[in-house]
Amino acid sequence: MDRIYLDHNATTPLDPRVLEAMLPLLRDGVGNASSIHWFGQRARAALDDARGEVAALIGASPAEIVFTGSGTEADNMALRGVAGLAREPRRKIVCTAVEHHAVLNTARALAEEGFAVEMARVGGDGRVDLADLEARVDESTALVAVMLANNETGVLQPVAEVARLARAKGALVHCDAVQAAGKVAVDVRALDVDLLALSAHKIYGPQGVGVLYARRGARLRPLLRGGAQERNRRAGTENVAGIAGLGEAARLARAELGGQAERLGARRDRLEQRLLALPGAVRNGEGPRVPNTTNVSFAGVEAESLLMALDLMGLAVSTGAACAAGAVEPSHVLRAMGLPMDRVQASLRFSLGRSTTDAEVDRAAEAVALAVAKQRETRALSTRR
Ligand code: PLP
Repeated sequence: MDRIYLDHNATTPLDPRVLEAMLPLLRDGVGNASSIHWFGQRARAALDDARGEVAALIGASPAEIVFTGSGTEADNMALRGVAGLAREPRRKIVCTAVEHHAVLNTARALAEEGFAVEMARVGGDGRVDLADLEARVDESTALVAVMLANNETGVLQPVAEVARLARAKGALVHCDAVQAAGKVAVDVRALDVDLLALSAHKIYGPQGVGVLYARRGARLRPLLRGGAQERNRRAGTENVAGIAGLGEAARLARAELGGQAERLGARRDRLEQRLLALPGAVRNGEGPRVPNTTNVSFAGVEAESLLMALDLMGLAVSTGAACAAGAVEPSHVLRAMGLPMDRVQASLRFSLGRSTTDAEVDRAAEAVALAVAKQRETRALSTRR
């Protein structure tokens, strides 16, 4: 079966050029970047190259880049790093209600540890309510965390405006840009953030490699203690091959951003038009969005079973639902947008990637039309019985 992968927001395939960049390091053996000998120097040079590429992708300087083991670790490090050094009266963290669980659950854990945590509301369009956020940020706020692009809806948040509000009260700003990098321009100076998280496997790099940008002078308590790697900010022997892969992925993302975004946007719009032409289909998320994502609810359809039916037809998509301890939790993002539960549970996310073709988009739209019609028929029959 020719499978179609429209779940690039979950993870992107490794770009063959990234694999090529990693192979020599994996095959020929790498030194430890902390070693003084030739092998160590070669590993260190690979890290330095990658650091330069990542810095260039986001307009940072190389010394501001900290390699981590994932985007999740970078988000944890941002929140815990700031909280760990926060002193009275700054004992509050403000984030939006639609952040990724890497931010939300870290904030919740900090709340259990005695920190004040507040979540700003979002509107029905998925964008943060700036007035609500502003009302929550005050002289007791240590950090404001806001994502650039939402993983479920693709909606872009007004990060620079949030940063302005936060700065006016003397708070630091963290931005989870994991879903934005490689899809839209990300510039830490233009966004005016202190901290920013990235993840290699969302930009065609390897899984298990992340980045925290930490503005020069930003003080963070390290999550991990050990050696002096990453200028004492993140202990542990670096994943040299993985980081080299991230470096190449960042280089490609920067080189190909313009054309890529245009092509992706055109294909996403083509898919979206076809999906929204189906009876009872509505889009979730409005306003500025990343060009590869659309989130659609199909009235009267149960998304989990639709997803499984589509998988059998060779189409991989996603629901925003998280599977926690065997129980499916409905999307906190769509709930925060005020969508009724039946619409939340009828929603699917389609996320396109570099290799997605027009033909795949057309086949995907046909598969969804068929599967939705079939499920509605089955439902109608079972309610008639
Ligand atoms: N933040 C966002 C917005 C994400 O979409 C993800 C991954 O889905 C993460 C953080 C976590 O990144 P990682 O998978 O590298 O831990």
